[in-house]
Amino acid sequence: MAARLSTSPVLSYAVLLPFLSRRAAASRSFSPFPFPFPFLRRSNICFSSQALSMARDTSAQDVSAQARRGFPSQVDDFASPGDLSFESPLKIVEYPDPILRARNKRINTFDDNLKKLADEMFDIMYKTDGIGLSAPQVGVNVQLMVFNPAGERGEGEEIVLVNPRIYKSSTRTLFFNEGCLSFPGIYADVERPASVKIDARDVTGARFRVNLSGLPARVFQHEFDHLQGILFFDRMTEDVLETIRSELKALEQKYESRTGLESPESIDKYERTQRQQIAGFARR
Ligand SMILES: [Zn+2]
Repeated sequence: MAARLSTSPVLSYAVLLPFLSRRAAASRSFSPFPFPFPFLRRSNICFSSQALSMARDTSAQDVSAQARRGFPSQVDDFASPGDLSFESPLKIVEYPDPILRARNKRINTFDDNLKKLADEMFDIMYKTDGIGLSAPQVGVNVQLMVFNPAGERGEGEEIVLVNPRIYKSSTRTLFFNEGCLSFPGIYADVERPASVKIDARDVTGARFRVNLSGLPARVFQHEFDHLQGILFFDRMTEDVLETIRSELKALEQKYESRTGLESPESIDKYERTQRQQIAGFARR
């Protein structure tokens, strides 16, 4: 997710954050955490005992049980070392590259390569003025995201989430002007739940649950969508989408010029009904 320059006519995140926090505080579903994460420690994500809810790693049992119930075989399709390989320095993948729509595999190897990938994702995120970044956006199709709502190295908290899941979303939703590093220069309003309860692993493989609200909830949900192959314009209203249509088409033309290939998707052939089904806010 991209941060917007403060010179923009739209309010900066710093200005909007108190507003968002108050709005989130009004949510009936969740109590918001103070911002930034008070329970996280830089360089080693460490949650308080209240945040930790799973002392036992049950993923292997969960997967085999799901497989027996006939869930798709992809459920237990974990990333191989090849899936997690990357070249330095990382580069941002832009729309409409099909990498952004590809399936992202779950991770079950928590090694130095994963830490290095997360570190390099932070590097390019800061360099491009981002506040969140998902692995498919750097060409690695795995369930990994990083974010720091402060958007500056040395400020805020650096959060790495592996195999994240949303197990509850607030019914209350908010509109927010979002940007995306895979859509340089494009900003538009997107509606999302104000708060989410999530389950994830940290970069060491430790599993945890946490409630997010305010800007962290917004950034998390934007990056979580990337891990499902959902892009932010999939969630825009028709009216809002119309305001960025020409910019999306320009990116499609840029892709065609660069690759010599036909754009794999076209905003002019956009099937709204299909996208809305993909991009529901149901339990994911
Ligand atoms: Zn994005």
